[in-house]
Amino acid sequence: MWESMEYSVLVDVYEKIEKTTKRTEMTAYLVMLFKKVPPDIIDKVVYLTQGKICPDYVGLEFGVAEKLAMRAIALATGVNAREVEREVKRLGDVGLAAERLLSSKKRTVSLFAFMGEEFKERPLTIERVYDTLVKIAKATGEGAQDTKVSLLASLLKDAKPKEARYILRTILGRLRLGIADMTIMDALAIAFTGTKAAREVIERAYNLRPDMGYIAKVLVTEGLEGVKKIKITVGVPIKPMLAERLRTPEEILRKLGGKCIAEYKYDGMRVQAHKSGNRVILYSRRLENVTQYFPDACQLIRDHIKAKEAIVEGEVVAIDPDTGDLRPFQELMHRRRKYEIEKAMEEYPVSIFMFDCLYVDGEDLTLKPYTERRKYLMDILEESDRIKLAHYKLISSPRELEEFFEQAIAEGCEGIMCKSLMPNAVYQSGVRGFLWIKYKRDYKAELADTVDLVAVGAFWGKGKRAGTYGALLMAAYDPESDVFRTVCKVGSGFTDEDLEKLPKMFEPYIIPHKHPRVDSKLEADIWFVPAIVMEVTGAEITLSPLHTCAWGIVKEGAGLAIRFPRFLRYRPDKRPEDATTVQEIVDLYKKQRKITMRG
Ligand code: AMP
Repeated sequence: MWESMEYSVLVDVYEKIEKTTKRTEMTAYLVMLFKKVPPDIIDKVVYLTQGKICPDYVGLEFGVAEKLAMRAIALATGVNAREVEREVKRLGDVGLAAERLLSSKKRTVSLFAFMGEEFKERPLTIERVYDTLVKIAKATGEGAQDTKVSLLASLLKDAKPKEARYILRTILGRLRLGIADMTIMDALAIAFTGTKAAREVIERAYNLRPDMGYIAKVLVTEGLEGVKKIKITVGVPIKPMLAERLRTPEEILRKLGGKCIAEYKYDGMRVQAHKSGNRVILYSRRLENVTQYFPDACQLIRDHIKAKEAIVEGEVVAIDPDTGDLRPFQELMHRRRKYEIEKAMEEYPVSIFMFDCLYVDGEDLTLKPYTERRKYLMDILEESDRIKLAHYKLISSPRELEEFFEQAIAEGCEGIMCKSLMPNAVYQSGVRGFLWIKYKRDYKAELADTVDLVAVGAFWGKGKRAGTYGALLMAAYDPESDVFRTVCKVGSGFTDEDLEKLPKMFEPYIIPHKHPRVDSKLEADIWFVPAIVMEVTGAEITLSPLHTCAWGIVKEGAGLAIRFPRFLRYRPDKRPEDATTVQEIVDLYKKQRKITMRG
């Protein structure tokens, strides 16, 4: 049987919830509401209590700003636009303003009714409010604004003043009842199974399919057994698994049972890629559909994930395409724009580093241990320059972990992710737990000054830089032993013209082996006599297992490196022995301004 329910029932609950801060009371109000709702509209009621019309990942927005809402109020009440605006300013809330304007209008109308004119109010049903809100959201393109205004006005015309308050707050995204997802899940559990214990099952389903309306509908129509059967679906985002944080390698290893797989923690944007045939959708960590910003990343997934259907996770990172070097997180943010995507792709190219696999061709992998999920990932991923498995290492001692961490930092990462190798290390969708532990620094520093470094070697370039150098190996001077010790690889900051000239400029200095006055752990493709000095800037100085500058001075088994170095200019006025000294680099490291990092 098809039943309907008045919107005013919902509004009464909104009001009660607004007046309490106690979660138990909120839950009780919701339980009472849910029990009364006809089964076929439970999904709509649930969305509306969330202040939505569908799950966020669908990306359907009302597209109604305050101005448009005020136009609709004017149309519905017959009050002129200026008056509406004044009322909104006075009350500081479009919802309250509409409520007041409507109640004075309705008083006049009822007076007519009293005087014998025919007047019948049609009560608003939840379906009508919901369906109209959907129509408003779906109105796009030419004339959409007028359509939205007239749809909203028609709703407001038939609304009781208090209903108007909540319709407007919903449409402007300002419902703010403070109902957490957990509270809704508790209420659903109590209302339809009689006990809060069922919350766990509901929550697991919600993590795998974050659509509260859908979950509620399944619960009401198929019971808890139905909810248990809810599975991950290609195209619908899954709540991501999150990592806990610990401060020392010892604590991390203790927690993970003495060994783990450590991976670079790239400083980019997490994406969950859903592939079905040629169709690829990318969701952000907040389950926002970000496909449109990254056509290049989609293409990489399309070409290099060898499965018909798959859900995989990785970190999209800005890179220097010619050297393969990672670029800072801020550069990636330039990709979040709606226009001139082609240009942005060229200016800020990206790579993807894959780290998980949740679904392959009909098989849900979320309950398999990480070691197995990785096997699936390695099976379906065809690596290339631009899409790779996250760099990893099996670790069984604090020392190894620390070294791997320093290497990660020196290569432009934020730190490392240590993952459990245990058989119970399932994909904990939506959960922050100790199966993944992040290890990163508490602070980030900034280089106080530029440095002058000597080029001691070079690496051949790729892509656009084929035939010239991709990066130069740079060193600081150690006057005590009269040796040049490496501190970074510089590939950024050169103009195309600079680049073209590099091989010719260095030709007179090329030697077939490392110069005896050069101390380097890295093997350059080409070695130089230390001669040319360049001014370089960078983000900060970090410990590094790769570079020999100040080896063992700040820390045993580590040198110092400049992170994100960039070429500024040549310093022909300086001899190599005039370059920044190792001691100066140590001083800069100690002097670095410490800034608290996010996360
Ligand atoms: P945080 O944002 O500090 O809580 O760290 C977790 C985030 O690190 C994830 O959401 C990913 O975006 C990112 N990340 C980078 N590399 C990895 C990796 N190898 N495994 C898992 N997460 C990674």
